[in-house]
Amino acid sequence: MVRLLATFLRSSRAAVPSARPLYSRGYAVASGAAEDAASLGPNSTTAPEGGQHDPIRSIVETPMPQTRNSQPSAPSIGRQGIRIPTGKGDISALHYLLRDGCKCPQCVDQHSKQRNFRMSDIPTDIKPRSADWDGSVLKVKWENDIPGFDESHTSTYTLNQLRNPSANYSYHSTGRKRKRLLWHNWFKHRFVSYEEYMHDDKAFSSAMRNLAQTGLLFVKDVPDSRAEVEKIATRMGPLRNTFYGSTWDVRTVPEAKNVAYTSQFLGFHMDLMYMNEPPGFQLLHCLQNSCDGGESLFADSFAVARQLGIDDPEAFKALCNLRLSYEYNHENDIYTNDWPVFQTYVDEYTQQQRLTHANYSPPFQAPMHGQRRPFNRTVTEMRALDKFAKMLEDESYIYELKLNPGECVIFENRRVLHARKQFNTATGQRWLAGAYVDEDAVLSKFATSARKYPHMWRDSPNKPYRKEAEGEGQVQSN
Ligand SMILES: [Zn+2]
Repeated sequence: MVRLLATFLRSSRAAVPSARPLYSRGYAVASGAAEDAASLGPNSTTAPEGGQHDPIRSIVETPMPQTRNSQPSAPSIGRQGIRIPTGKGDISALHYLLRDGCKCPQCVDQHSKQRNFRMSDIPTDIKPRSADWDGSVLKVKWENDIPGFDESHTSTYTLNQLRNPSANYSYHSTGRKRKRLLWHNWFKHRFVSYEEYMHDDKAFSSAMRNLAQTGLLFVKDVPDSRAEVEKIATRMGPLRNTFYGSTWDVRTVPEAKNVAYTSQFLGFHMDLMYMNEPPGFQLLHCLQNSCDGGESLFADSFAVARQLGIDDPEAFKALCNLRLSYEYNHENDIYTNDWPVFQTYVDEYTQQQRLTHANYSPPFQAPMHGQRRPFNRTVTEMRALDKFAKMLEDESYIYELKLNPGECVIFENRRVLHARKQFNTATGQRWLAGAYVDEDAVLSKFATSARKYPHMWRDSPNKPYRKEAEGEGQVQSN
């Protein structure tokens, strides 16, 4: 990861940073992002003893002291749970849940990977009859097993399975709660060549890692064809179909008769907020862009939100509670939904409030006057919203570029806001082909990429990212 990030940073068109902390990993309101430990999880080796990681410490009756012998210590079996010493922090699990996680051929069909038992079939008083641990594999035989499982049933867990029970743990670098690299206008985003993106798995995985971290990626040297956006999108996952079609066009042709006509500025927004599941990722492939103007603008709403949380915690809180309504109301399609501006969760390890999504799309907002809302609260929320909107106008947050034909931008729709400057249709043509891919599909792609190239996706919570972050500003552009 360090090497990857270094490569990533070397290609940075980094301006001299201002005094403001320009670059931070992850999102944290309560403290600086460098202290952010979002990736700490079951796979962490830094879990504090008796800390949040260890909910059943108290129920294991005789915790074994950790030894430094080369011989692995025996697991300690308590009334409700088991503790396995690994030499790098203990792993503990409830007996019931450990039994539930058995993946032996008797429990899980090896072909379909579907379970042959129901969780509710497990007797609540199940416990290990024996537990053998050799330092890398745990073998458990059970007392009071599920009826029908005889004494020969043996559950086997590798150390990796014990540490990472989930196929895509949400706090992992590929998961929903992954750490992010928050960015400002001077950050140089990754441009991966079409050839590498489409045909080089390693380069593609590395590009996906960039996308997971920054939410913004560019593919360059894309062949001049309307069919390409679908190819680029489906490299990540299936197309998301909507009433706009599985792919769609943003196209304007010259209107010679109306020389004065300019297509309007379109402010920062996210797409399809009026849907219950707005698309996770959006692609725009530029086929033509010869008009005057029409520059694309992008802003990292997580970076803005983080700064707002530092500058004005009350405003941040107000936007976590403020649900805005959105609608698409046309003759043949009616969609409505509402979303909090900042969608957050409390990090179970740091107790910090962190973002999963931002939801912000002023052009698509719907009337809210039917709601009973206290006046004072509404005023507080509107002031907070105004503050957020004004921060978004600060050019230090705005990454601007004019997409060239042959470039395709991929961005995380509910993190990276996009906008477009006005353009003059009399001076040329502008044609972008668009597509969406759902977040689930892209997270799956992140996870399968990480399985193939684990070194690229390794989070290293023990290594201070801030050092690298500070270094970034000193990197010269190439
Ligand atoms: Zn089993």
